[in-house]
Order: sequence, then structure tokens, then C-alpha cells
Amino acid sequence: MRVLVLLGAPGAGKGTQAHVLARHFGLPRVATGDLFRAAARDGTPLGLAARGYMERGELVPDEITVGMLLERLDAPDAERGAILDGFPRTRAQAEALDRALADRGTAVDAALLVDVPTGELLRRLTGRWLCSSAGHTYHDTAYPPRVAGICDIDGSALIQRDDDRPEIVRARLEQQLGALADVVDHYRTAGILQAVDGRRPIAAVTNDLLDALEPIPYWRTSP
Ligand code: AMP
Repeated sequence: MRVLVLLGAPGAGKGTQAHVLARHFGLPRVATGDLFRAAARDGTPLGLAARGYMERGELVPDEITVGMLLERLDAPDAERGAILDGFPRTRAQAEALDRALADRGTAVDAALLVDVPTGELLRRLTGRWLCSSAGHTYHDTAYPPRVAGICDIDGSALIQRDDDRPEIVRARLEQQLGALADVVDHYRTAGILQAVDGRRPIAAVTNDLLDALEPIPYWRTSP
């Protein structure tokens, strides 16, 4: 089995790229956040254990997360490999993944970082506005309303969610960037980290990721 790890801060567009690469290679995208949300919805013991952490925006403990991820990698559709999205999020998770893959006679092939500077992440994450009557969503730069501060659809005032306010977003982002830096460091030390500029348009970022994979025979796209 061949495993690709996609890394990026919240707002970097990592999830979008994971979907595109999974389709491109015909492999499952395995996202621990999705697995936790599904488990919480189904009310499984694992889901109930994870729910409190998720609601507080904290990382779920490594033992729970690693166990769930490895079980998912043993499913038949991941036999040829998987694109990991949102895992590993800590150095301990990265080390546990290395050990588990070594037991299966394989290793992480590449860790791809969708790199976006903190200032741009803040702009992306704090630019969201909702209309006060029906929750229609807008974004300062990506999807601005025709008239600033007014909903195109129903003319109501646009408001910002409490947790989208810059000071709240900054605090959460700084925590998450610290953990991401550890994981990036782990793969850089292993010599398999490649970073691409995540400020470019979505299709350009995808091309850069595919180019980064070209030297690795299994992931080569060109004939
Ligand atoms: P996400 O959809 O990736 O933003 O994840 C949603 C939530 O699930 C996170 O805020 C964490 O509480 C939890 N979670 C997802 N992936 C991990 C992980 N690798 N380690 C710990 N917690 C995680």
C-alpha cells in the first residue's frame, strides 16, 4: 500500500486538494475529521469519546485517533493506498503511522505541504460574513456581496460569527500552527517533505503537487 500525507493549516485548501488527488489516483481520501464526525453521528463509543474534544476545538487524544486511522487503512478500499487528510496532526501520530506502515512493509511516500503564510490564512478565515436573516454566506475576497455589508439575496445586514472574529481565529490558528510545524519537521527530517505555494489558484496548486510527485515512480502521472 502507498500512503500520501497532505499537510496544511486550516484555510490552506488542503481538503480541496486531497479530494482532487484522491480522484486523480483512484484512491480513498482518508480524513480523520470525517471519521470522527461519522462516529459521533452514529453514536459509537469512539464517536462519543471524541465528541467533547471536537466541540471544544481540541485535538482528540492520539491513542483514539491513531487506532481509528489504522482501522480505516485496513479496509479493503485502502488496500492499494490512501491520501491522508488531517492526519497526522502531532509528532506522536506521525511516529505511530511510521511504525504501523513499517509493520505492513511500507512507508509514507511523500508528505505534501500546501503552504500559505499566516497573514493570508487569517484573511481567508476571517473574511466570512453571514446575512442576519437567512445565513447566506459571503467572503470579503472570494465571494463578496454586490454592496458591502448587505445580502445580495434578501437585503439584510451581514454579520460576522463570533468564532470568525480575528482575535479568536488568531488564537486557534496559532495553536494549530505549532502542532503542524512539528509534523512538518518530522517529514522534513525524513527527507520526504515537499512544499507548494498554496496562494496560487486551486488548479495551479494541484499541478504543483502532481509535479512534486513526478520523481516517485508509483505516483508519476506522465507516461
Ligand atoms: P477537521 O475536520 O480535520 O477540521 O477535524 C475536526 C476535529 O476532529 C478536530 O478539531 C479534532 O477535534 C478532530 N480531529 C481530526 N483529525 C484529528 C487528528 N489527526 N488528531 C486529533 N484530532 C483530530
